[in-house]
Amino acid sequence: MLALDRGPDIHMIEMGPKKAASVWVFPADRLDTAEPLVGLGIEPFSPEFTPAALARALRGARMRLKAFLVTQRYVVGIGNTYADEILWAARLSPQAMTTALDEDEARRLHHAIPSTLERGIDVHRSWACGASQRGAAGGLPMKEPLEGLAVHRKGGEPCPRCGTLIAVIYYEDRETYYCPVCQAEGRVYADRRRSRLLR
Ligand SMILES: [Zn+2]
Repeated sequence: MLALDRGPDIHMIEMGPKKAASVWVFPADRLDTAEPLVGLGIEPFSPEFTPAALARALRGARMRLKAFLVTQRYVVGIGNTYADEILWAARLSPQAMTTALDEDEARRLHHAIPSTLERGIDVHRSWACGASQRGAAGGLPMKEPLEGLAVHRKGGEPCPRCGTLIAVIYYEDRETYYCPVCQAEGRVYADRRRSRLLR
């Protein structure tokens, strides 16, 4: 928790098992030059986040879409959960290469990023308000709200759009959930964790 003289206190909680989050405090005049802020991507709620800027980032990235969304080098503020939700909203495969997207697909991604994050912020805001009203210990409960999520952590449940069962890929400690029909032309990708166990 960070208590501020002016304005509300900041409470932060990390839900994932990896505990990689951190909080940094900088003087305002160092925001452009301070590590680790240098090298961060576009803020999706800023005027700089245009279809052209996203298209440029996609062309320059040459990686899979899921990795592109979570790396913070191209677009900031997207974690594992909302990367899955954004790709589902945009009907794009997490395994697709950034350089393979056509104009329409890139536009769908550009629309899905802020709109999905906005919905997520709303859910978390009402969840945090409810928690403080309930007087939860430390102000925040220890469980991430799953309400409002379409695919993330919903493996085996029906896709809210088409009813196909949501599939999951495990890769490098990261779980990726997607709808095989809406996002991958019906393909179910190999579960690398399971294939490793079978070997
Ligand atoms: Zn679907």
